[in-house]
Amino acid sequence: MAIVGPMSTPEAPVRRPALLVVDDEPPVLRAVQRDLRTRFGADYRVLRAGSGAEAADTLRELRKRGEPLALVLADQRMPGMTGVELLEAARDLFPKAKRALLTAYADTGAAIAAINRAQIDYYLQKPWDPPEERLFPTLEDLLGDWQADASLTDPEVRLVGHRFSPASHEARDLLARNRVPYEWLDVDRDQEARQLLDLAGISSDRLPAVFLRDGTVLESPTPLELAGRLGFPTHAELDFYDLIIVGGGPAGLAAAVYGASEGLRTVLVEREAPGGQAGQSSRIENYLGFPNGLSGADLARRAHDQARRFGAELLTVQEVTGLEARGPQRVVTLAGGGELAGHTVLVATGVAYRRLDAPGISELEGRGIYYGASVVEAEACHDQTVVVVGGANSAGQAAVYLSRQAKRVLVLVRGTSLEASMSHYLIEQIAAIESIEVRTRTQVAAASGSDHLERLALTGPDGDEELDVAALFVFIGALPYTDWVGDRVARDGRGFVLSGPEAGVAQSHRWALDRDPFLLETTLPGVFVAGDVRHRSIKRVASAVGEGSMSVQFIHEYLADA
Ligand SMILES: Cc1cc2nc3c(=O)[nH]c(=O)nc-3n(C[C@H](O)[C@H](O)[C@H](O)COP(=O)(O)OP(=O)(O)OC[C@H]3O[C@@H](n4cnc5c(N)ncnc54)[C@H](O)[C@@H]3O)c2cc1C
Repeated sequence: MAIVGPMSTPEAPVRRPALLVVDDEPPVLRAVQRDLRTRFGADYRVLRAGSGAEAADTLRELRKRGEPLALVLADQRMPGMTGVELLEAARDLFPKAKRALLTAYADTGAAIAAINRAQIDYYLQKPWDPPEERLFPTLEDLLGDWQADASLTDPEVRLVGHRFSPASHEARDLLARNRVPYEWLDVDRDQEARQLLDLAGISSDRLPAVFLRDGTVLESPTPLELAGRLGFPTHAELDFYDLIIVGGGPAGLAAAVYGASEGLRTVLVEREAPGGQAGQSSRIENYLGFPNGLSGADLARRAHDQARRFGAELLTVQEVTGLEARGPQRVVTLAGGGELAGHTVLVATGVAYRRLDAPGISELEGRGIYYGASVVEAEACHDQTVVVVGGANSAGQAAVYLSRQAKRVLVLVRGTSLEASMSHYLIEQIAAIESIEVRTRTQVAAASGSDHLERLALTGPDGDEELDVAALFVFIGALPYTDWVGDRVARDGRGFVLSGPEAGVAQSHRWALDRDPFLLETTLPGVFVAGDVRHRSIKRVASAVGEGSMSVQFIHEYLADA
């Protein structure tokens, strides 16, 4: 990476976002406004309205002036316009603002129905005293989500690259998945991109180029270099840990939360971004406690913040490449150089999609062909035809997500139907979307294009077909990330890690201790496994979270024995 000299960038003016509270009873209205000002006044302007109509006027005025609105908190029972009606109207004007209903106990049923129908974010019951317990935590949570979204519109970084260059794609993915607000400038389309390169003296074969707010320009940085410049934690603070977690998906993050909250010196190492596969899911519908579903990005951000709050260290954009036992110590090697040592290690590295095997595919990977759903590329598919390969839930979710941008989404399934592999709710959603077409017994025979994917050859029951496409997203089963675990950790024929009773009787590895292995312990004592990477795992967010949490209990027992 070359660092090219500083360039000045103009700062955007700062506006405090608004919180709007609505109630027809003046004493209640004054009390809520006072409480909100006390807690949130430093960062937000707290506005109030005495009726639904007055609130609707305020919303229109804010919209007209282009001012940001973070939250509307409305009483349900108001003459003329109910709280739910107002919150529905608010969504049209401010789709991203959080919306919460204030209800009396007797209205709880109506509130729950409204949450489902009008997709209201939360309901709070009156009275809300003490606000520190019954009002502020919920609103802090909602405002945290709002801010995480809103911050993405105020770019900290400008990234100049070629749309179909794998290195540019990798840099965009890194920024997007780590929630760094950035502006993407395509050197082949944006005049400004070429001007910026001229100013910095960077040639277009040294891309991507990253322009930071402080004026620094990075030429063709590696992911680790970019992460370091952006201030991501990439190096450990301690010499020795109780628990080293490898992988920051749901399993690893759950272990980090439980480990750190129960007093273990805990470090988590993640090679891309917290959230793992779940972080790529546009909507997780079946996770307990979220009746409206939640996006993978929100789940990842919340879990990351929770783990940090309990004191876990999270190193990102750091890959673990090896594992060994040195006496009682368990030591992992980092790709960026260096090692981490601890009493125990949790293997939570999940799975990666299997590669599609057809002529032209590997050459165009990252240039229109992607494994898993790529949020940044999905946005570029506006009004074009895209193809999704796979018949499981991940493929179905990707098809639904892509249909919001693409003109046509073709789902190719090798089997005879989706029923055997996809959840019923997704099959119904797909059937209801006109732009999605499912083709069974159909496969990709070849891919072609000059510097990016342009055409696919398909083969199916009705013969062969050539198709112009903008992108291909592949979801065809998973292989575990376990090349790095070394010989002392037994794996099954496909590479998934054996644990518990199976570790105790593994033919290839003799269990030498007097006790049996703990339930999630591998053939190497003190090394545990959780989530998708485990032999016979369930491949769901909830089970990964469950195993990550459980593993900490066994780690305590191991440490007590050691
Ligand atoms: C698009 C999509 C949609 C899905 N939707 C749902 C859903 O709606 N409901 C549901 O229950 N499940 C869903 N799943 C499945 C669910 O996401 C997984 O079961 C879950 O994420 C598994 O969690 P995990 O922590 O075991 O592994 P992963 O989520 O795979 O996380 C593993 C992490 O380890 C990191 N890693 C790998 N190797 C290394 C290394 N050597 N060094 C450092 N880090 C490493 C990876 O970068 C990754 O972040 C979906 C999956 C996908 C892909």
